[in-house]
Amino acid sequence: MFEGPLQDLIDELSRLPGVGPKSAQRIAFHLLKEDPEDVDRLRAALAAVRDGVTFCRICNNVSREDVCRICADSGRDKSTVCVVEDAKDIQVIERTGEYSGRYHVLGGALDPLANVGPKDLAIAPLLQRIGGVLPDLDGAEAPAVSEVILATDPDTEGEATASYLVRLLKDFPDLTISRLASGMPLGGDLEFVDELTLSRALTGRLKL
Ligand SMILES: [Zn+2]
Repeated sequence: MFEGPLQDLIDELSRLPGVGPKSAQRIAFHLLKEDPEDVDRLRAALAAVRDGVTFCRICNNVSREDVCRICADSGRDKSTVCVVEDAKDIQVIERTGEYSGRYHVLGGALDPLANVGPKDLAIAPLLQRIGGVLPDLDGAEAPAVSEVILATDPDTEGEATASYLVRLLKDFPDLTISRLASGMPLGGDLEFVDELTLSRALTGRLKL
């Protein structure tokens, strides 16, 4: 244990995902030696991410505005919605260049062991969106969604989430539900799937 602010910083850093106590200590000591300007820049970036980032009211993507860039893009197909766990998954799918629809960010996956249930995810807004309840841009009527692609991670939690969503989405008789095709590495995170595999999984998606 160190004294005062240094230990506070180490404690805070240790709470970040992927940062263990050793890394936290290393980062803290590194910051201690950094130029004040560099530390100020980091502080400004931290403040900006808290105050300057909001969530798109249509798809729950991280956004600077009330509506994210993808939802605001009239060139994108509004009838197809790709459901992902996290906003970072959008970047991964965008990189394939295979997808021109919209997204819906759940904010995680069902995980009973970590106490993450349906209410902790943006599932209700997804259903409202498909049901045409959520107003689109400028309060216009929500566009009809004809296909939902379930692109949750190919791991246990992601599969459980997809199965759960399929059960709910079956209530919409005209909706096509599809899941990313096989060939995805099992147990993985969408983030680490290479572009080619992901492209193939998207184009060869399976109707459920
Ligand atoms: Zn959006």
